[in-house]
Amino acid sequence: MDPEYDYIIAGGGASGLSLAWQLLNSPLKDRKVLIVDADLTPKNDKTWCFWHPGIPPFSDIIHKKWSSIEIGISNDHFSQQVEQYPYYGLRSIDLKQKVLKAIRDHAHFDLLESSVVKFTSLPSEQSALLHTEDATFKASYIFQSCFAPTEIHKSDICYPLKQHFLGWELTIDTPLFDDSTCTLMDFDESFTDGVAFMYILPWRATSGLFEYTVFSDQLLSKEFYEEKIRLYLHNRYNLRPIDYEVTRREYGVIPMQDQPVISWYKPRILNIGTQGGLTKPSTGYTFTRIQNQAKAIVDQLIANGSPEPPSPSNLRFKAYDLWLLHILYNHPAEARQIFHDLFKGNSMDQVFKFLNEDTTLMEDLKIMGSLPYRPFLKALWATRKRLQEI
Ligand SMILES: Cc1cc2nc3c(=O)[nH]c(=O)nc-3n(C[C@H](O)[C@H](O)[C@H](O)COP(=O)(O)OP(=O)(O)OC[C@H]3O[C@@H](n4cnc5c(N)ncnc54)[C@H](O)[C@@H]3O)c2cc1C
Repeated sequence: MDPEYDYIIAGGGASGLSLAWQLLNSPLKDRKVLIVDADLTPKNDKTWCFWHPGIPPFSDIIHKKWSSIEIGISNDHFSQQVEQYPYYGLRSIDLKQKVLKAIRDHAHFDLLESSVVKFTSLPSEQSALLHTEDATFKASYIFQSCFAPTEIHKSDICYPLKQHFLGWELTIDTPLFDDSTCTLMDFDESFTDGVAFMYILPWRATSGLFEYTVFSDQLLSKEFYEEKIRLYLHNRYNLRPIDYEVTRREYGVIPMQDQPVISWYKPRILNIGTQGGLTKPSTGYTFTRIQNQAKAIVDQLIANGSPEPPSPSNLRFKAYDLWLLHILYNHPAEARQIFHDLFKGNSMDQVFKFLNEDTTLMEDLKIMGSLPYRPFLKALWATRKRLQEI
């Protein structure tokens, strides 16, 4: 048997490294911890964005903050200031470099670059094993973001939606972009097989990330997203391919589905991150929930020695997510109208508060009152049984 640990973190992505960071900055920092990932080289392959009241997580490495949010619907572009919930962009390369350095500088934390092959649970010994091709490690708890929970079957999911996107990071010679405003959604009404929009993170007046994003159950060819970006740059900014240089591409697929949250992979092996069901089904945003989960796990380890993280959403917000998923999946045109009314009829701060699940029932009712009620009544009826299962 290879060395024994108090905790093993299997997967050094957003959730694994966020948990390692919480542990390093807690009274548990002297526990023995192993972090395993198949590839530990930091890469600039994900731009994690989130809104946050107060000081954001990893505040010293935030790449960009925006206090103005733009929405575009039916050729109508409008922007709103955000005061309580600014929008932040954090690059995966910066988070990984920061946390991996802190781990390497710490005597009790070990890093291993290797593929995890499987886990074994040893409940009678109050521990679990992590197996690689050529080694086995034991710990009291394993926190894993590598494998989907075994109990989830594709056929159990009623609304198998995905958020899929391809983005170009590009530079231009002449200042053109408004880097004080990020474009959250600029809808493409010509796309009818789901909901599609352009998402823009302008870094500077001469550079930014332009992502064509789709909510649907079918992935598209890479050329399709790229053609859409090309067209957008031409129609909105009059830019031709010779006017810009694409310096990086970012591609991603995020599950947006009515997936039950399964906390435990096996006894003593906790699912974290996306595999722990942390993605908010109706938006695809996961990063803030990952931070909340990491903090909750460490707080519980300190308090009771065992982790039992709370469900990411209470029943009220689970119901809202399910209704919107139902509408997005079955009636994308109605979903576009709902987004339009949501953004037109409410302040962006209030929308972010609602999506953060920080609103009171009274505040929710006010938001609901700004939306068309028919699609929601139909969704409420159609999902009444499903709500009890998730
Ligand atoms: C391109 C992209 C952009 C995103 N942007 C946002 C955003 O702006 N805001 C937001 O809230 N959410 C965003 N998300 C969703 C979500 O926040 C991210 O997917 C986030 O990285 C999830 O964290 P995770 O730890 O669950 O998974 P990951 O970050 O993917 O980490 C999993 C880790 O496990 C490792 N691994 C997997 N299998 C094995 C194995 N067998 N052995 C060893 N290691 C293994 C992988 O190498 C990886 O490092 C984005 C997702 C993508 C794909």
